[in-house]
This record gives sequence, C-alpha cells and structure tokens, in this order.
Amino acid sequence: MPVTAAYSELLNRLQRVQHLNSIAEMLAWDEQVNLPPGAAALRGSQHAALADVLHNALTEPRHETLLRSLAANLALLTDDQRIVLDWAWREFKRAKTLPASFVREKAELASRAFHVWVRARQDSDFEAFRPCLERQLELARTEAELLGFGDRPYDYFLDRHDPGTTTETVNRLFTELRAGLVPLVRRLLDSPVRPNLECLRGFTVASQQALVNDLVRRLGFDMSCGRLDVSVHPFCSGHGTDVRMTTRFDPDNPLDSLFSAIHETGHGLYEQGLPKEPAGTAFTEAAGMAVHESQSRLWENQVARSAAFWSFFEPRFRAAGPASLAQVSSEQLFLAVNAVGATPIRVDADETTYNLHILLRFDLERRLFSGELAVRDLPDAWAAASSELLGIAPNSDRLGVLQDVHWSAGAFGYFPSYCLGNMLAAQLWEQAHHTLPSLDADIAEGNFAGLLQWLRTEIHTHGRRHNLFALAKRVTGRELSAQPLLDYLKARYEPLYLK
Ligand code: ZN
Repeated sequence: MPVTAAYSELLNRLQRVQHLNSIAEMLAWDEQVNLPPGAAALRGSQHAALADVLHNALTEPRHETLLRSLAANLALLTDDQRIVLDWAWREFKRAKTLPASFVREKAELASRAFHVWVRARQDSDFEAFRPCLERQLELARTEAELLGFGDRPYDYFLDRHDPGTTTETVNRLFTELRAGLVPLVRRLLDSPVRPNLECLRGFTVASQQALVNDLVRRLGFDMSCGRLDVSVHPFCSGHGTDVRMTTRFDPDNPLDSLFSAIHETGHGLYEQGLPKEPAGTAFTEAAGMAVHESQSRLWENQVARSAAFWSFFEPRFRAAGPASLAQVSSEQLFLAVNAVGATPIRVDADETTYNLHILLRFDLERRLFSGELAVRDLPDAWAAASSELLGIAPNSDRLGVLQDVHWSAGAFGYFPSYCLGNMLAAQLWEQAHHTLPSLDADIAEGNFAGLLQWLRTEIHTHGRRHNLFALAKRVTGRELSAQPLLDYLKARYEPLYLK
C-alpha cells in the first residue's frame, strides 16, 4: 500500500478514536454535573460498553496492518509523521499487550476499591482498604512487566503521566526542592503573622458566579467553545472546541470558587490552545500531566495571587462582596489570598506546603514499588513522614493515608506531576518576565492577552511534540530545576510573613 494512503487512513482511524474518547469524557462530565443518582448503574454500563468499542477500535487487525506498514517505511515519512506514528504505536501496543481479562479485572477493582475506600475513609479504617491497595499494587507491577518495565515498575507509571520521566530524575529534582523548601516553610509557619479568612464570609453565590464568569472570559477562555459549571470536585475535561470546566461555590469562602475556577481555566486555556488538526494525534494532545498542571498553576498562583493581579481585581472583588468587606484592609485581603498554614490534608494546603505533601507521597510510592515498604506499614510510614516534613502527624487514617482517591483507582506515579508542574510554572513565570517586560503592568490593568499569547506560542501549540523536560529547556534555555520555584516562593511569601 502507498505510504500516503496508509498514513491518511491511519489519521482517519486516530480521529475516530479521539471522537470515541471525547464521548467517554462527555459521559464522565455529565456524571459529575448532571446525572440523577438513580442513573449511576446505567452510566457504569454505558462506560463499559464504550470502553469495549474503544478497545476494539485500537486493536483491530487493520489498525495493526497500517501501523506495521508505516513502520516498515520510516524513511519515507516526514519528522512530524514519525512523531504521529510513534505515539499511535505506543497506544496500540498498550491496548494490544494488556489481556482483556487483565483490563476487566483492573476496571472492576478500581470501581470496587473506590467504594471500599469511601467507606474506609469515613470509618478511618486503613485495614478495611488494605487488601484493595495490595491488589492494585500487584496489578500495577504486572502491567509494568507486560509493557517491558518489569525491572523498574514505578518508572512505567511516571512515564505514563509524563513521558520521559524516571524515578531518578524526580528524586534529584525533589531532593533539590526539599533542601530549600523545608527551612522556608518552617520560617513561614513560625511567623506571628496570621491571615484572617473569616473576614471574607457572606458572599452570595450569585455574586461569586458573576465575578468568576467575567474573570474566566477576561483570562482568555473562549465561552463559545467551552462551559463553566458546578460540581463537588472542580475539574476540566474535553478538548479543542468543547472544553468543560467546573468550580463550586461556598458563601463563606469566596476564594475557593475563585481559585478553583482560575485553576481549571488554566487547564481549559491549554486545551483550547492545542492544535485542532490532525485530531487524535500527538499534535493535538497535551504534553503530559505536569505540563497541564504548570498551566493551571501558573494562572492560579503566579498570576492570580500576585500584587499586580489584585490591584486590578480588588475593586471588582469588593463590589461583589458584602458591605462588611469595607472593614477589611487591602493588606489583610492580600494576606488572606496568600494564606500559609500547615494542614494534614493535601487539597487544603497552600502553595508552599503543598509541595511537601507531594514529596511525602513520592517517597512512599517509590518505597512501595521497590519493596522497601509493605502496604501494612503505610499508616506508620505516612505519619512519620508527615511529622518530619510538615511538622504534624495526622491523628487518624482519614486525615493521613486514606485522604486521597488516587490509589483506589491504581493511579500510581500521578502525584509527582503536581509538583513538577509547580516547578515548570515558576520557571515559565521567570522567563515570561524576561520576554514580556510589561507583564506586571499589563496584569495590573486586567490585560492577560500578552501572557496567554506567549504560552500559546511556547507551550500550547506544540501538543506532545516535546516532553516536560524538552519544553523547559526550549522555552527557558535551562534544564527543569527546583530553583525558580524556591526563588518565587521566597519572593512572594517572605515579605508577607517575615517582616
Ligand atoms: Zn489541575
């Protein structure tokens, strides 16, 4: 078969897979935003039926024939076509290598383990969850072995979320971060300066909604190709011309809806900025979870917690709030926006201590996979690491080892992406200031177009062409490092807490 004909047939097939994937995402979005509780079981069956169709589309003999014929003619392909082929191979190989019985057991376990985890967390009973976690680890090791990572299973999972990432690289970066971050956090937590979040109570949901909707548009999110809805846990899903984001509203915590919405908008802007064609290929997909998080965190933290942003946003925020807000000074408000405090719960953590929560999880996961740590010893290991890193030991499994949903789904190696994303965000922010000298002045005027355009050109438009490390090097001229994050956190928090 001529190479051009085979390649264009492959593109048609990849586009179809992408359409099926986007239908699955739509079902998941609907499940969290709209689904009547009585339809939960039906939705589970719909997911399973669609997963079958997807698996078949990826493993059909015709698909394999096309991939093989193109792989045999690499010399006739352009560089871009090779990148497309390389990624299509990876996905095919994974779908083809994992036996159907294995995939089914994994899906069933994830569903069962989720419900066991919910109950175990409620009861603060790790022993009830332990057998599920042990089985998830066994399946994870099997999966890594089947895909050729038998001697380094944790690397397999790191690489799934962020291509090119290894335990060794993450360990080096996290060691560098830890050396600077632990003493900085100690100093911030010892400060007598304490923010007062109580002073922000009494925002109506309607006024928060209007404020957030206006801001999301101003940041550059195209509402004609996306939506912002409400869900218990904020998230962003979808691609290209249909990006679905959610946030949540609490009258006594307007900063939660605000920063959740800005975080998801960062994800949404990345999805809207990815190339639309050729659909379903490496060029229309995000580079990885860490790069995705770098985009959400850059807008949420570097931009929206800055003094420049609040000089633009403060009057709008006050206008949307209750009359009592007049009693709160600009300094108090800015301190509340940049509140630092130790908590045993990762999702409640501020942007300084958040990274320590990730260092803790990376270390435990690494030891679980190397066999150094047994699952039954996890609660004690968690408490010891928490005391050492955060200065607080959780007084229950609920506030410790059972707090995150990830392990119930077998999502190992996912946590490091959050912290790697923070590192990339800080490095990009530093570079953005070199490239865009008027950045702070623009933000202070509510003008975000220059920053968005820069991110579009430097990050979004490349899709998966470059991985996390290659992007950091290309855009900033330096290897990915913890130093820009440390410098950024010091510059932002020391003047507020260590006067
Ligand atoms: Zn995120």
